[in-house]
Amino acid sequence: MTDTPTTPTAVAGRPVADATDAEVIADLDFAGDDQAVDDDLGPAPAIVVFDIGEVLIDETRVWATWADLLGVSSLTFAAALGAAVVQGLDHVEVFDHVAPNIQWRDFEAEHERRYGGFGEDDLHADARPCLQELHDHGVHIVIAGNQPARRTEQLRALDLPHDAIAMSADLGVDKPSPEFFAAVVELAGASSPGQVLYVGDRVDNDVVPAAAAGLRTCWLRRGPWGVLQDLPDGVEADLVLDGLGELPLLLAEWSGDPQDS
Ligand SMILES: [Mg+2]
Repeated sequence: MTDTPTTPTAVAGRPVADATDAEVIADLDFAGDDQAVDDDLGPAPAIVVFDIGEVLIDETRVWATWADLLGVSSLTFAAALGAAVVQGLDHVEVFDHVAPNIQWRDFEAEHERRYGGFGEDDLHADARPCLQELHDHGVHIVIAGNQPARRTEQLRALDLPHDAIAMSADLGVDKPSPEFFAAVVELAGASSPGQVLYVGDRVDNDVVPAAAAGLRTCWLRRGPWGVLQDLPDGVEADLVLDGLGELPLLLAEWSGDPQDS
């Protein structure tokens, strides 16, 4: 009987024994570093549509504001949210656990007053550089996700590189409905869904319905849904990433045009 090490067996393809603790931590991810693009993915998409929550915007402050308003700790709120996610429940079910005696919609205006809308500090650090690099390489960029109409102007005010932007409230249809993705394809000016890559953090609202609608998919594994959900059997995302930093290079490889940088 041999001793089995209790540490992970490899980090980014290297034996753990060769990596320092700091390197192990820095390399922790879900998708694996240096993902290569499959040779058989077919034509590269010319249009990239970015979801908003946990793709461009870090929603930590959204939930922390709710926790504070309802008088529960951020830890308790986050645990309740995670439980809802893994049970496949709508996130509003959280309120039944942390504030069972209130109607959350009665407090929505106060939440928005305290939250104050999207700001530059709410952007994931890799969001603006990714959009800028794609824009510089001529990629058509659309921003579209399930959000109330007031977020449209808040996002416009952040002056992110983009060609089109629309919230679900603007489009009149929500994810995961097929109509949302059809509207996004039209908004993007694509002649077919296959020209569009949809980048989203959720399996249920993004990857599965986008793929069913014929779009290409990039699953971004961050945020509560991104780390807790799993792809159902028989469904694959074209790309799986844990951040946006690699997306420009992977898209360039996909199109057979590796970038120098
Ligand atoms: Mg999202």
